[in-house]
Amino acid sequence: MEIDFEKLIKLQQLDMEIRQLSLFLESIPPQIENIDRKIADSTLIAAAAREKMAGSQKKRRELEAEVKDFKAQIGKFKRQLNEVKTNKEYTALLREIEESERRVDRLEEAFISEMLLEDDIQRDIQEANRELAETQEVLSKEKEAIFRKKKEAEERMQELIRSKTALLPEIPPHQVDLYVSISRKKNGIALSPVRDDFCDLCHVRIRPQVLNELLSSRNLILCENCGRILFWREQAEESPAEPETTEAKAK
Ligand SMILES: [Zn+2]
Repeated sequence: MEIDFEKLIKLQQLDMEIRQLSLFLESIPPQIENIDRKIADSTLIAAAAREKMAGSQKKRRELEAEVKDFKAQIGKFKRQLNEVKTNKEYTALLREIEESERRVDRLEEAFISEMLLEDDIQRDIQEANRELAETQEVLSKEKEAIFRKKKEAEERMQELIRSKTALLPEIPPHQVDLYVSISRKKNGIALSPVRDDFCDLCHVRIRPQVLNELLSSRNLILCENCGRILFWREQAEESPAEPETTEAKAK
């Protein structure tokens, strides 16, 4: 079977780049998810600081209300002082007043420490907001860059598919079938160049007789080890490879 090596090599190059681009495109959604998760996380830190502030303010309002109740209570006790009949009652009331005043002092101390705490929380909120803004800026730039690369990859993919669609009818169908069946079995690579008497992909030495046949004919010869279609490297070099394809292959 005489083989159109140049076209098959071109097909192989197109398929390899298509495969590489597919892998790249598949890797994009997880990358975006990862970025969105980071953005959500930094939002949480800022939200937690705000929640802490709200908690402290609520506690301060409760303390304030309690102080107000105790002060009303003290006022009431003081008025009762004028009405009591016995010394015992009078002493008891005085004790109640003292006790309530001590409670008020403690509550006011707690109120002040909440206020001081809020100063710290306020700083945390500002810090969290600043970090959030920074993170969001960095991450949204990262996201834009990914979307740009995605768009480029999709455009390149369209080009490659167009080239492949144009190329396929130029290759005899049975050669395409053979190419496809080997490609499926061999991790997407159906052709292997011969370099220094070795199959370049499985690194097995080619017998001299096979080498001679390769040199003298354009017949289909499969590597006896890996089963790929063998070709001379020069044939690949003669075939007009697009610069991007060569570059992608070199990576
Ligand atoms: Zn091989």
